[in-house]
Amino acid sequence: MKISTELADVLLLIADLDQQIGQQRATLEHLASGEEVQGLRHRLASASEAYLQASTVVENLQQTIARGQVDLDSVEKRIAHDEKLLAQTSSAKDAEGIGHELRSLANRKSDLEDAALELMEQLESAEIILRDRLLEKTVCSEALTKESEALGENVKLAQSKLALLVQQRAGKIAGIPAELGELYEKKATRGIAAARLVHRDCGACRIALTATAFDEVMAAPADALVTCPNCSTILVRW
Ligand SMILES: [Zn+2]
Repeated sequence: MKISTELADVLLLIADLDQQIGQQRATLEHLASGEEVQGLRHRLASASEAYLQASTVVENLQQTIARGQVDLDSVEKRIAHDEKLLAQTSSAKDAEGIGHELRSLANRKSDLEDAALELMEQLESAEIILRDRLLEKTVCSEALTKESEALGENVKLAQSKLALLVQQRAGKIAGIPAELGELYEKKATRGIAAARLVHRDCGACRIALTATAFDEVMAAPADALVTCPNCSTILVRW
């Protein structure tokens, strides 16, 4: 089959369009798989779980602190009550008993206050963690919303780019002789259908032609259609 340099250039253009179409299809497939959105959903799920855990820790600490406060209030009431009794009693024996109870109540009060202080410190740290978890959850949630919204737009954009490339390709194919078009299409189903010969390398399979094959290719008439002995792509020499 004969092929002019102009036609050879058109084949290279079609091959370039084929490559762009392939990339665009891959982009569409990637978008349609929803991989990014799925990844963000997983991140949001773990962030929500971590937030819930931190929130439970804070709530438990708050409840423990509240219970401690109730205990402390009751001990203080008891102390006030005993002090009143002590002031009123005239019995030395009673005074001794009340004094004994007051000492043990003072110890109990001191223990409860120490525990409350320790719990307040724990609560402070837990609240810092909770704030961090909330921030992470918010960031994930916003990213997911943004990505989900962008996905539809990106799919539409990739589809219209693809449609345009397919249209351009059809126009180019229609402009070349039918026989050459058929040959090109046949080769295109197997890989890159046309490529330039760069020095001794095939532009499609990137393998260098052997010295003999190269000499044969170069010795062929200028308008002869030559192919790569390795991948059988149409080689454009000029
Ligand atoms: Zn090749």
